Amino acid sequence: MAAGSPGLLARGYFWLKPCLPRRLRFALRKSLAHRIARKSRCSWPINEAAGDAPQGWQGWPGSKEFAFVLTHDVESSAGIGKALDLAKLEQSLGLRSSFNFIPEGTYEDPVFLREWLDAHNFEIGVHDLNHDGHLYSSKQGFEIKSKRINHYLGQWGAVGFRSAFMLRQLDWIHELDVLYDASTFDTDPFEPQPNGAHTIFPFLVKSESSGSGDGYVELPYTLPQDSTLFLLLGEQSIEVWKSKLEWIAKRGGLALINIHPDYIDFSGSGSPTTYPVNHVREFLQHLCDSYQGRFWNPLAREISAWFRKEGCKLQDSAEPAC
Ligand SMILES: [Zn+2]
Repeated sequence: MAAGSPGLLARGYFWLKPCLPRRLRFALRKSLAHRIARKSRCSWPINEAAGDAPQGWQGWPGSKEFAFVLTHDVESSAGIGKALDLAKLEQSLGLRSSFNFIPEGTYEDPVFLREWLDAHNFEIGVHDLNHDGHLYSSKQGFEIKSKRINHYLGQWGAVGFRSAFMLRQLDWIHELDVLYDASTFDTDPFEPQPNGAHTIFPFLVKSESSGSGDGYVELPYTLPQDSTLFLLLGEQSIEVWKSKLEWIAKRGGLALINIHPDYIDFSGSGSPTTYPVNHVREFLQHLCDSYQGRFWNPLAREISAWFRKEGCKLQDSAEPAC
């Protein structure tokens, strides 16, 4: 199997997952997460080795010090119900983001929400197909599913993709009609396929069968996921986000975050599967106040289009070993 493909453990977990009660799964994941955090102190949340710019790197447009890209995976109908509140919060701070929807998951196509986001300069992306952990179970199955994904990409006017559970098979993603994929990360040992891309910069994934100019842009997320920090590890503050952002800014990299509206508590109910909206508000306010005028906030598709043009000039912009 090619490097970076889903391993046996990850596959086994997703076959067993439907049989395990949600509360038990959550308890197991929490316990495992604390163990992983202890073992990964040297490489998470910061992996120093990921901070080097690619050779020939000329910096971000407008001489900005770093780029900040906001993305959201909408996992369930709960997330659909909160996406608009989250978008409006970002809008009030002058920020823009991408919302990735599951085409054939547990909720109906949120046509009204997609249209609202589109009309207000947010981006729509495709998040997996069924969100069941089986997208990459077989090449033949992926080929069938990739046609369905391409159908939704076209229908939604989307050019970006992210797999469920950050599972990935980068050489298969060439089948998708995408400008970019965002299923990798610089470091995230908590994911079922935990090998990181070891970079805080975008990179090109070229197709072996086509010319050097072909391929898609890979956007690794570089700030820890909200679900890992607040739900699994029980963090009570945004200090991890702040310190990682400071490190990325110093190295002039890409700060890319994935925030799930599903897990945000907008009402103050205090459920164990949500965290206070104040964490998001405080972090975004911190970004806008402490780094005012110093960062570029493109949509994921905009940074990808820019990198597609500029990245080809870099000497080592191609896929790192991950
Ligand atoms: Zn997801």
